[in-house]
Amino acid sequence: MPCRASAPHIVIVGAGPAGSSAATFLAQQGARVTLLERGHFPRDKTCGDGCTPRTLWMLERLGLGSLANTDGTPVDSVHAVSPGGVVWDAAIPARLFGGKASIIPREVLDERLAHRAVQAGATLREGVRVVGLEREGDVLRLRCLAGESLLADVVLGCDGSPSVIRGALGVPDFPAHGSAFAIRAYYENVRLSHPRSLGFFWDEALLPAYGWIFPLPGGRANVGLGMRADQLAATSARLPELLERFCASPHVAAELAGGQRLGRPKGHHLPFGSSARHTTFDQALLLGDAAGFVNPLTGEGIEFALESGAFAAEAVAEAVNAGDLSARGLGGYARRWRTRFRTAFRLNRRLMWAFERPWLLDRVFRTACRDERTRDELIDVISGEATRLSWRFLASVALGR
Ligand SMILES: Cc1cc2nc3c(=O)[nH]c(=O)nc-3n(C[C@H](O)[C@H](O)[C@H](O)COP(=O)(O)OP(=O)(O)OC[C@H]3O[C@@H](n4cnc5c(N)ncnc54)[C@H](O)[C@@H]3O)c2cc1C
Repeated sequence: MPCRASAPHIVIVGAGPAGSSAATFLAQQGARVTLLERGHFPRDKTCGDGCTPRTLWMLERLGLGSLANTDGTPVDSVHAVSPGGVVWDAAIPARLFGGKASIIPREVLDERLAHRAVQAGATLREGVRVVGLEREGDVLRLRCLAGESLLADVVLGCDGSPSVIRGALGVPDFPAHGSAFAIRAYYENVRLSHPRSLGFFWDEALLPAYGWIFPLPGGRANVGLGMRADQLAATSARLPELLERFCASPHVAAELAGGQRLGRPKGHHLPFGSSARHTTFDQALLLGDAAGFVNPLTGEGIEFALESGAFAAEAVAEAVNAGDLSARGLGGYARRWRTRFRTAFRLNRRLMWAFERPWLLDRVFRTACRDERTRDELIDVISGEATRLSWRFLASVALGR
């Protein structure tokens, strides 16, 4: 499919991390970019607000490196409790992008990212909800709720989950075993025992769900829990009820003692698992949650959303230069995300099985407490950086050494 003589118009639907990242990188290359967002900034997004070391590295690449300290709570370690109460604390190794993470409220993060895209030269239009996408000759027409429509040479679907663009491109919904639901609540006046740690908790009574406590600036905390959709459907409990039980469990209740909950907890869908043919189309790409780029073990997706934005920008530039905006011309996108994400997703998908077995988790944690190299590998897994487990790790856990 040839692209037209004038500079192609790239329309990005959704100004979350994926959309704003893609818009920034594309605008920096001089592309004509319109970023459509149904909400108005600052707007909330249901999330744990946890920014991994790789997320911070991506923010640096986007020119927002200072956010981690100015608007977030810097963290440099992990505090984790196994179902049997085995506690392990470990510093995030410096080899993981300097060993620094941060908890940045999405209300702040997403607004800064969108403004960064505007600064780079993208046109941001807030309050525009896209409701449909149709092909019209060699362009794509986006229909918006208010009756307006826009023409695009390339559309990037960055509208999270559920995604209107994904549906319009004919991609099926994520199956229940390939998605999760998670819920989070904010607390104030908390005095956490580990205020510079990402806190992860596996409670035997709540498995296969796992929960987190992440420290936020000003004595606040983000507290939440997630579970695979098919497993949740198989229990009689609802997510809000599970969150109450999580907050009342001994380790978590001790952390939250004296704190007060702010507002009502909010839940959202988390899709994971993708294939190249479900992300790359003639004149269109899917990014971030719309593509299913979420770590299946932890539910973490901001870094994948940001990085998919960079990959999409590179692939679109290649396709424009080659004058071929077909799925084939845009093929560099799938090549890039598969090289970077696929093995980590596959490993973490397999590890879900292990993380649902209390005796095995207890054993892994006990080994991690004793052995620094096992600890480091476990942190790689939790932060989404591991692509395989070493034989040494497996042997140490198997032998309980
Ligand atoms: C409870 C919970 C906790 C989580 N915790 C973490 C965590 O701690 N760390 C982490 O890394 N990840 C976490 N995640 C995952 C993370 O929130 C997502 O992976 C991430 O937000 C994906 O970014 P995105 O840009 O693809 O989509 P989104 O952030 O969902 O952004 C999509 C954007 O598109 C807009 N939009 C949607 N539809 C339309 C439309 N039709 N027209 C125009 N605009 C539209 C939306 O308003 C939104 O701004 C969590 C998720 C949940 C549910």
